[in-house]
Amino acid sequence: MTWRIPLSNTDFGVEEEDAVNNVIRSGWLTMGETTQAFEREFGEYNDVSHAVSVSSCTAALHLACIAVGIGPGDEVILPALTFVATANAVRYTGASPVFADIIGFNDLTISPDSIEAQITDHTKGIIVMHYAGHACDMPNIIKIAQEHDLFVIEDAAHAIGSSLNNKKLGTWGDIGCYSFFSNKNLITGEGGMLVTDNPEYADELKGLRSHGMTSLTWDRHQGHSWSYDVVSLGYNYRIDEIRSALGRVQLAKLDENNTKRRVLENKYRQMLEDLVPEVEVPFTSHPGIPAAHIMPIILPEDVDRRKFMESLKADGIQTSIHYPPIYKFQSYSDKYDADQHSLSNTEIISNREVTLPMYPNLNSNEIEFVVHSIQKVITLN
Ligand SMILES: *Cc1c(COP(=O)(O)O)cnc(C)c1O
Repeated sequence: MTWRIPLSNTDFGVEEEDAVNNVIRSGWLTMGETTQAFEREFGEYNDVSHAVSVSSCTAALHLACIAVGIGPGDEVILPALTFVATANAVRYTGASPVFADIIGFNDLTISPDSIEAQITDHTKGIIVMHYAGHACDMPNIIKIAQEHDLFVIEDAAHAIGSSLNNKKLGTWGDIGCYSFFSNKNLITGEGGMLVTDNPEYADELKGLRSHGMTSLTWDRHQGHSWSYDVVSLGYNYRIDEIRSALGRVQLAKLDENNTKRRVLENKYRQMLEDLVPEVEVPFTSHPGIPAAHIMPIILPEDVDRRKFMESLKADGIQTSIHYPPIYKFQSYSDKYDADQHSLSNTEIISNREVTLPMYPNLNSNEIEFVVHSIQKVITLN
């Protein structure tokens, strides 16, 4: 179906085409100089010492868990209101995800109080997720982690370019993970990145993404090495030169695009407040500078979400839900107990959340169209 206003959209132009063509003409497609440049630029942008590119954020989260030493018997605390990859990464290592609640209607990020309530002798770490690119309460989460000797991994898939207290999200914890999937703020198709200030983690991550090998095909092509050893059980989680070339162009556009998103977010916020105050827009007066990755709203209790989404669809507007709580998926409910009493905000809000279209090239008229379409349903309700 062709949407009049899709949920998200790419902004590719001649620069991306040229970047991809240059790689193809160079004759070298697997990890090489372009990837090295992308990693260097991404690290500089985030003011972090090491950036390690991988094939996806899911791969990044998996390697981050291995690097900090998460394994069988360990528990890792994370929000249930996130994409399933955040929790899958924990399961890949043999550890168990333990779900914590979100703060409330105005803040859909993980609650520090709920984290503390879930800590046991088996807890090894915390994975936070910066929902919609809005910062989790990192100062308090880091404090809890230090008190209990826990690792902090940041799922910053929504938060490329976000900051809190002038420090980029993804660089607060031990390791940060980003996604370059087609609907994110920086797009390479599939792709991801890890960042850390710890040189030992960086070395381990570079090994793990490439079969634990001590030299790369690129090094051997350059004549720097003629053989290799395998020093750990690694994976093929490598990015490639075409994606890295796209990533470099997209990184150069990131700040401008994120600024556009924030302007659009404010426009939505004001119009919704004026025309349909019954609809709540979370993250009012939230600290930090958000990447404004998605545009969540919370419907009034008496509005049928399915009918609401159908009605917007009839106007050609694509909407989505972020997210069904992870513990409700069959693959989780079969194996992991979630204490639903302690997850009451997640329970209520996940039933009432709807995500509206958001992308840099969305314009004011389109936002007016979306808000009028919302007004129509809410007024008829
Ligand atoms: C998109 C996303 C991921 C997964 O990213 P991939 O690059 O597709 O593996 C993980 N966590 C969150 C919160 C996401 O939005």
